[in-house]
This record gives sequence, structure tokens and C-alpha cells, in this order.
Amino acid sequence: MTAIALLPTVAALRAQVRLWRQEGQSVALVPTMGALHAGHISLVEMGKRRADRVVATIFVNPTQFAPTEDFSKYPRTLDADVARLTEISADAAFTPTAEDMYPEGFCTTVSLRGPATAGLEDRFRPTHFQGVATVVAKLLLQALPDVAIFGQKDFQQLAVIRQMTADLDIPVAIEGAPTVREADGLAMSSRNVYLSEEERAVAPLLHRCMTKAAHRIRDGEALEAALSPARGKLAGAGFEIDYLEVRDAMTLATVEGRHRKGLRMLVAARLGRTRLIDNIEV
Ligand code: AMP
Repeated sequence: MTAIALLPTVAALRAQVRLWRQEGQSVALVPTMGALHAGHISLVEMGKRRADRVVATIFVNPTQFAPTEDFSKYPRTLDADVARLTEISADAAFTPTAEDMYPEGFCTTVSLRGPATAGLEDRFRPTHFQGVATVVAKLLLQALPDVAIFGQKDFQQLAVIRQMTADLDIPVAIEGAPTVREADGLAMSSRNVYLSEEERAVAPLLHRCMTKAAHRIRDGEALEAALSPARGKLAGAGFEIDYLEVRDAMTLATVEGRHRKGLRMLVAARLGRTRLIDNIEV
């Protein structure tokens, strides 16, 4: 097994990408916060299909966490992550430090409207997307890959990144990859390790209720009439719902009435101290 290149600095990343470019090779970037699971691995696999070389980035970005959120306890498993990336023949891991990304005096951020202010995640995490967009802009400009891969699991984030990349003329193609789930339907997430045994048993209800509501909508039921029993069932099982909504899949704008094409159902709900998010096509 060839060990992957460990790139701890922006300079090392740029030198590696320059070398590949000189050899005429294309490059895919897969940004992550580490604690890698099969969802992340599927993004790397997609990167391998899209480009000659794949760089995974591992950086728990402090600026996308609110002070009340889980930055300090976010799972960090660097050695296991690097072993996993080696196993699946990724080419490199970029692992910058916070000091490298945000040196003394750093004071520029990306300002967002459009999908970033759709009233979903942004309502509950008002500073989140500014942190995400700024770090993703930096990562894209640091690596200048041909393509960058993001998960549909974070559906609003994917829309924000597509919009930003287009608006700022960042010359990188953005690709979305399908959500990878556990056998019982729970969307894989680094945060699932926070779930207690009892909560883990209840958690798949989220996907089950969404799937059922989506069926009812496809069968012609009005949106709210289909969502309302799902909300009730989830609340009864102990979920505290931040939102469960159907939106236009392209713009994330609100929609009313009945089924039409191009709809997405998005949910965020807390189960104990774990906040779960998910979404499915309607
Ligand atoms: P994170 O490490 O949680 O910031 O996620 C890094 C990337 O992996 C993001 O583009 C996520 O959308 C994506 N991702 C996370 N979970 C999944 C999953 N279950 N399936 C597919 N992609 C995922």
C-alpha cells in the first residue's frame, strides 16, 4: 500500500498540486472535518472517478461553530483518518492548523445571501455558513483543484458553495454526492457518535418519517398535511424539531400546495444533545 502524502501546510499543498499539474494530472479536492466515515469515503471515491489525483482535507474549522456548539468536543481521529485514506488509495491529506488558516490579523469573510439565508440551517446557526463559505473559498483557492466534491447530506451547504463558487468566479467544478446511510436509514455523520444506545435506536425514525411523508406528497397529499403527522410522530419519539420542510430543490425557496417536480424535504432535529440533519428528494 502506498502511503498518502501528508500535507500539513498550504505551501506543501501547493507544491504537491504544482507537481501533479506539471505531469498533466487533474486534481479533485474533498473537504472534510475528519472523523471519516463511509460517507466521506464515498466522496473520495467519486473524486477518484473525476480526477487523476484526490486530496482530502481534514480541518475542524473553528469559524463555523457558534460558541455554544461542539467545537471542542468534535471527534478528532487523525491517525485513523490517514489510515483509512491510505487504504482507499487517496493521494494526499491536507491537514492545516488553525494558525495556518487564520493567522494573526485575519479579517476577511465571505458575505452571503440567497441559499445561505433560506431560513433553514441559517435560522438556527446564524454564523455557520459564513464560516463554511470562507473556509471553503480558502481551500479552493489554496488547492485550485479541477473539481471539489461535497455531500448532499448538507444540502443547504452544497447550494451555498455552488452559489459562492459561481459568484466569485472560482474556477473549480462543484459536484454533489448522494448521502450514504446506515442499513437502518440513518444518514452517516461524525456526530452520530454522540448518540446514546437508546437514542441510536430511535434515530432512524427521522429518515423513516421523511420517506413516508414524501410518499404521501407524491401521492397527491398537500405538503403541510403530509408533514404534520411526521412532525407529531418525531416529537412523540423525543425529537426536538428545528425544521421539517419541503423546499424548491434548486433555490431552497418555500413552496406551498401539492407535489410538483424539483422538491426537497429537509430536516434538522435534536435528539438529546445530538443535532441531526438530513434531506431527501420528494
Ligand atoms: P464534514 O466532515 O461533516 O464537514 O463533511 C465533509 C463532507 O462530507 C461534506 O461535504 C458533507 O456533506 C459530506 N458528508 C457528510 N456525511 C455524509 C454522508 N452520510 N454521505 C455523503 N456525504 C457526507
